[in-house]
Amino acid sequence: MDGRRQKIIAGNWKMNGKIGSIQEINSLAKEFNENTDEIVICPPSHLLIEAVRACSGSQIKIGAQNCHHEISGAFTGEISAEMLKDLGVEMVILGHSERRINNYESNDLIRKKAAAAHQCDLKTIICVGESETQKSAGQTSEVIKKQVSESLPNSTNETNTVVAYEPIWAIGTGNIPISREISTVHSILRGQIELMKSETIASAIRILYGGSVNEKNCSEILTILGVDGALVGGASLSASNFSQIIKCC
Ligand code: PEP
Repeated sequence: MDGRRQKIIAGNWKMNGKIGSIQEINSLAKEFNENTDEIVICPPSHLLIEAVRACSGSQIKIGAQNCHHEISGAFTGEISAEMLKDLGVEMVILGHSERRINNYESNDLIRKKAAAAHQCDLKTIICVGESETQKSAGQTSEVIKKQVSESLPNSTNETNTVVAYEPIWAIGTGNIPISREISTVHSILRGQIELMKSETIASAIRILYGGSVNEKNCSEILTILGVDGALVGGASLSASNFSQIIKCC
């Protein structure tokens, strides 16, 4: 079944990038026109409109890093899924551990945000992953099953949702789980999605690995059983490194 899932490489720029960084996106847009994988760049909000313009006519899709759980209203400083869709954004990352931790985002809130995104026809990349303490305590399976069960809305299906397994201790640290661990967690996640949804959705939904993926380790990571692509942080900030990761697919 693995071979039938289209690989996806998504870059999360986090709070990095200036207007000049659009040149990086431009050069990727020129390079990737007919790649068979799905390529997504998620720049910060102030670059979204320029990024959408730069990628128009190319294969690269633009994603946001967050959206509000309501469609509109008195929510100063927030951006809604409908507004993102209006800009031409196609995807949104939700439940990233940095937002779960720094912004106290719960599974419940993430599920509401994802439901709003789906309602506005935005695809979601929903992140889950255990902390170092949880891993050491042997709680990885329990933690990620709970996160996935409570963060995925009823509207979830294989076309509107991608799940990203991002162990918190692997993000930005250069520490990566061994291949067998990644494969096991992906299979646990797929099993949980089957219990929640159906065998058809579980076997078709894409599950990415994220955490210190770079141009050197991508070939090994992207060939792990059950890994349908990568969510890339730091290494997505350089067009040439990100391009090498895309080529690994
Ligand atoms: C991330 O924050 O989603 C991420 C995977 O970061 P990095 O690749 O820098 O570890």
